[in-house]
Amino acid sequence: MFRPLVELSPAEQRQIVTLPPTIAKLTEVKHLVLYGSNLVRIPPEIGSMTNLREFSPYTSHRLHWFPYELTRCRRLKASTVSTRSLYGNLKVRAPFPPLQPGRASTRDLDLLGLDPGVWGTDVIRACSVCDRPIAEGGLHQVWISLRVGTDTVPLLVNACSPACIDALPAPPDGYLPTPHTGGPGIRRKRGDHRA
Ligand SMILES: [Zn+2]
Repeated sequence: MFRPLVELSPAEQRQIVTLPPTIAKLTEVKHLVLYGSNLVRIPPEIGSMTNLREFSPYTSHRLHWFPYELTRCRRLKASTVSTRSLYGNLKVRAPFPPLQPGRASTRDLDLLGLDPGVWGTDVIRACSVCDRPIAEGGLHQVWISLRVGTDTVPLLVNACSPACIDALPAPPDGYLPTPHTGGPGIRRKRGDHRA
């Protein structure tokens, strides 16, 4: 079990809004505990935690940005995501924030110093789907609702191409049926991200 935040003071904890990319090295960790954190986002590097079986961010009410790379944690069987806090939740009615329009090239972007308020992440190294360096492709961000452990969670996809978006799996029944780019036009179906 790994509890990266418990040794911090409450004041320090409040300043931690994401985890460092070095979590990619935690390949032996089976249970990641983030109870009551002030985290806003989880970085894509969590996809390298290949032994992760349980993911416990419960009561992290500001946590809204989960990476598609969570689906690479193939042993993940249990989770306690506070689904009421998720974007698209019908009861709380937090709308999906609009993602940036897709682009065929990333040449004008600082991929290692992105504004997380715009991109939902501060670093994008690789395509979430095919894993090729994003600097060699374009950038097409979408939301897709998929099962993570025991929860269905809207995941942020950083795809290099429309072809990689087409390759995404289908969401479970009752959720938005296709990948989407958020914004006010997104209609949520009854049952989406119920608490
Ligand atoms: Zn790709």
